[in-house]
Amino acid sequence: MQFSFMKKQGGSHPEEKKDRTRKIPIVDATIPKVLIFPVSMHIGAPAKPIVEVGDKVKVGQMIAEAGGFISANIYSSVSGEVIAVEKRPSTGGEIDSIIIKNDYEYIKDEPIVEPGKSAHMTDDEIIETVRKAGIVGMGGATFPTAVKLSPPPGMTIDSFIINGAECEPYSTSDNRVMVEYAEEIVSGINLIRKLFPKIKKVYIGIEDNKPNALKSMREATASYRDVIVQPLKTMYPQGSEKGLIKTMTGREVPPGGLPAEVRCVVMNTSTIRACYRACEFGEPLTDRIVSVSGTPIKEAKNLRVKIGTPIDSLIEDCGGFSEVPGKVLSGGPMMGKPISDLGISIIKGTTAITVLTPAEADEGEEKDCIMCSECLNVCPVSLQPILISDAFDRGNLQKAKELGAMDCIECGNCSFICPSKIPLLDNILAAKAAIKEQEAG
Ligand code: SF4
Ligand code: SF4
Repeated sequence: MQFSFMKKQGGSHPEEKKDRTRKIPIVDATIPKVLIFPVSMHIGAPAKPIVEVGDKVKVGQMIAEAGGFISANIYSSVSGEVIAVEKRPSTGGEIDSIIIKNDYEYIKDEPIVEPGKSAHMTDDEIIETVRKAGIVGMGGATFPTAVKLSPPPGMTIDSFIINGAECEPYSTSDNRVMVEYAEEIVSGINLIRKLFPKIKKVYIGIEDNKPNALKSMREATASYRDVIVQPLKTMYPQGSEKGLIKTMTGREVPPGGLPAEVRCVVMNTSTIRACYRACEFGEPLTDRIVSVSGTPIKEAKNLRVKIGTPIDSLIEDCGGFSEVPGKVLSGGPMMGKPISDLGISIIKGTTAITVLTPAEADEGEEKDCIMCSECLNVCPVSLQPILISDAFDRGNLQKAKELGAMDCIECGNCSFICPSKIPLLDNILAAKAAIKEQEAG
C-alpha cells in the first residue's frame, strides 16, 4: 500500500525525469587540481578557518572549525597546499573560502576516532564523533546532525524516520546510495537508534518510483521486525520532513515546531550513512554522491565527489554540454538554486546538479493573477501563497507573517503550478528574509 500525507491537501506531479541516471552505478568523479571550501556550507554560524596560505594539509584534516553550537567543522578532501583564503562565489553569494591545491598524493590524516569500535561507543561518543566529523543534513537541509541528535531534555523520541523519498525531479543520488549502500544505512540506523532507547519503530520512506531502492532496503532490513520500509506515492514534495512525519506517524509538527516535539527524528539516507562511516571508520565528511543530469548533459551520471570540487569539473566528467544550457541548478528544478558561475563548488548539501535547456528553463512572461486557486491547492502546508506574495509586494510584512510566511517549506510547488508565472516562491523567500531581518532588530 502506498502512503502519502498529501491525499487531501497539496502536492503536485512534476515530470520525474530520473530515467537517465536511476540505474547508473556510482562512479568516482575526477579529482580536480584546485578545490574550494566555503566556510559556510551548513545552517548556522560559519566555520572559522584554522589554516593559512602556505600550510600543507592531508586528506581528512580539519581546515575550519565550527563557529558555534549550530555550525560544523570542515575537512580537506585532498592532500595539498592552502593557496588562498578569500571570498569566492557560492550558491549563497560571496563566501569566505579556503582554496587548496591538490598534490595528487592523497596522504591521509589520522582517523577522527579509532576505527572498528562503533559498536562499543557510548551515546556521548557517538554524538561527539558525528559533531567532530562535520556531518550535516545531506539531503540539502544542511542542519548540523549532532544538534539534531541532541533534542532538548524531556523530549522523548519514539519514532525514527529515514528519508529516502527523493522527490525532486532528476535527482537520483539518494536512490543510488540506497541501492549500493543499504547495509551501511542499516548499520547507521542501528548506531543512531541506540541514542533513543524509546524508539519503537523505524520507518524508511521511499517513493514508489524507486523499486530497486525499495528492494535493497527491504533485503537489508528483512531480519528487523520494527523497521518498516514504506513505499510512498510519487508526488512532490513527498520528502518534506513534516510531511514524512505525518505520513508515517499521523502526527503534525506544529508551525515553527521541531520533529522532536512530536517524538520523531528524521534523517536523510546519505546522512545516516555518513554517521556510520564516521563512527566505524573514523572518516570525517569529505565526499558525497551527486547526480548530474538534464537534457543538455551529454552523459548523465551519479558521481562520488570530493567536497570542494568545482561544478565545471563534474560537467566535464559527464562529457560536457550537447547544447548551450538555459539554466544550471545546484539541486533539482523545484528547490534548486540557479548557478551563474560553474566554478562554484560542491558542498555537503549538494544532492544534484541539474541542467535545463533554454526552452525548459523558460518560465514565460509573468501575468496577472487569474485567481484560479491552484497555488493554494498544491501547497502541502495549507498556505495561501498568492496572499503572502501580495502582502510582501505591498510592503506589509506583518500581514505576510500572519499568513504564515515563516511556515513555508520552500518546496516551490506554488511557483511551479501558477499559470500566470508569478514568482510566488521568490516573493515568499524575500518576505521570510525581510521578516527575519526585522525580528533581529
Ligand atoms: S513554496 Fe511555500 S507557499 Fe509555495 S507551495 Fe511550497 S510550502 Fe506552500
Ligand atoms: S496559481 Fe497563480 S494565477 Fe492561480 S491563484 Fe495562485 S497566483 Fe493566482
